[in-house]
Amino acid sequence: MRQKIVAGNWKMNKNSEETEDLINELIDKLPADSEATVIIAPTFVNLASAADHTEFTAIRVAAQNMHQAEGGAFTGEISADMLKSIGVDIVIIGHSERRAYFHETDALLANKVETALKHDMKVIFCFGEELKDRSTNSHFNIVEGQLRDGLFNLPANAWSNIILAYEPVWAIGTGETATPEQAQEMHEFIRETIRKQYGSIADDISILYGGSVKPDNAREIFSKPDVDGGLIGGASLKADDFVAIVNGI
Ligand code: PGA
Repeated sequence: MRQKIVAGNWKMNKNSEETEDLINELIDKLPADSEATVIIAPTFVNLASAADHTEFTAIRVAAQNMHQAEGGAFTGEISADMLKSIGVDIVIIGHSERRAYFHETDALLANKVETALKHDMKVIFCFGEELKDRSTNSHFNIVEGQLRDGLFNLPANAWSNIILAYEPVWAIGTGETATPEQAQEMHEFIRETIRKQYGSIADDISILYGGSVKPDNAREIFSKPDVDGGLIGGASLKADDFVAIVNGI
């Protein structure tokens, strides 16, 4: 079933105390009757406390990344089993910052997705073109390639655990947002690309938009028929902004 989702990617922000404060504020201020599923993704060190803290609330907790291996000699890394063991069963995979700064390739991301699904986790799979791709009009090709190489090895029944997040790299943290029309155009293309490969399950996939979503542009972006919510970076770090965005659904 296609769901409305608003997810906050906190990136490398908020220490332990700040994490607790922001969660408390969200618990206070988020509407009880929102149509959207609300997900927050604090840093690894604060995940266990965030999962505990939100256990009896409607807020879900996601990890920002994980390793593809089951365990072993991978210094500094975190496995799917470790996440599951603290009650985290959602993971963001393929964020553009992971792709750009940590050299994560489509092939590696396909592996991570496979491992996450094997552990019954839900995956928020991020992808999107860079500015140079859009200026050479190759953005549709790039996005199609990212979907194919990252996800099209999956069997059809795996898609019930996949959430897509289209994030044009040129709009992330830049203050520059895709127009609602540009977002809709790409989201429709994404859904049609999935339909060609997997048929009608394309209608059940939630496709989130990410890239400088703010309280003042969220409602219009979310009103587009193929936009099912957002992945929010900077504006998820302030409770009032994030709540206003959730209210834009
Ligand atoms: P932004 O980040 O909202 O700060 O542009 C979005 C993201 O990276 O997920």
